[in-house]
Amino acid sequence: MRALIGRLFAGKPPPPPDPVLWDGVRRRVRWVAALDDARDARLQALAARFLRDKAITPVGGLELDAAARMTLAALCCLPLLEFGEQGLHGWSQLIVYPDAFRVNRTHVDAAGVLHEWEDELIGEAWDAGPLILSWADVQADLDEPDAGFCVAVHEMAHKLDALDGVLDGTPPLPRPWQREWARDFQAAYNAFVDRVDRNRHTAIDPYAAEAPEEFFAVCSEYHFSDPDTLRRAMPAVAGHLERLYGVSPLGGR
Ligand SMILES: [Zn+2]
Repeated sequence: MRALIGRLFAGKPPPPPDPVLWDGVRRRVRWVAALDDARDARLQALAARFLRDKAITPVGGLELDAAARMTLAALCCLPLLEFGEQGLHGWSQLIVYPDAFRVNRTHVDAAGVLHEWEDELIGEAWDAGPLILSWADVQADLDEPDAGFCVAVHEMAHKLDALDGVLDGTPPLPRPWQREWARDFQAAYNAFVDRVDRNRHTAIDPYAAEAPEEFFAVCSEYHFSDPDTLRRAMPAVAGHLERLYGVSPLGGR
């Protein structure tokens, strides 16, 4: 795994977003519409910084207007409401595909045999590299904001996780909290993998059993889009995510 190279942004904060564009974000994104004024203002500042510091590159014939770019910036910054702008460090480009995209994978196994295959993805986050999203899947998340999915939050969780140079399901946290986090997430992950292995029903997407970092990213999606399910299924994990991200906009507690 490549080490993450941090990049510090100097200079004064950018001006807040165009109010008309931000109103459009509020209308389109229920997670933003549900924020209180203080958190809404923080998200606006983060989104303005995102748009100033990141190149948003549509590919595959996709075109993104100013409203679409503002929506993407707001979504990517949702997990940074408490963490702050340092969550944007270490990378510079958001690539947006029109739909799910294919990537070629290779792996050399223990016997030295090269395996090659294709994965179809709706999002990807390279440590120190671009964040990649499928626009169609972003739209599907916005159409059904309480369904347990948010690919932008998922990939941003990976970005937060990678900030300390290791993609392991633990973002950089103050030391005592990091110990509690590691203990509670490990216990919840082990229990979850056990259920998946035994083909038992799981409250959240079984994809979370892939690896500790996927578990963190998938639970982050539920924090925003189905917090009640997450809290019922894994209260300790839900508690840590509430501390990291703030109370879910759809939490209603
Ligand atoms: Zn992932």
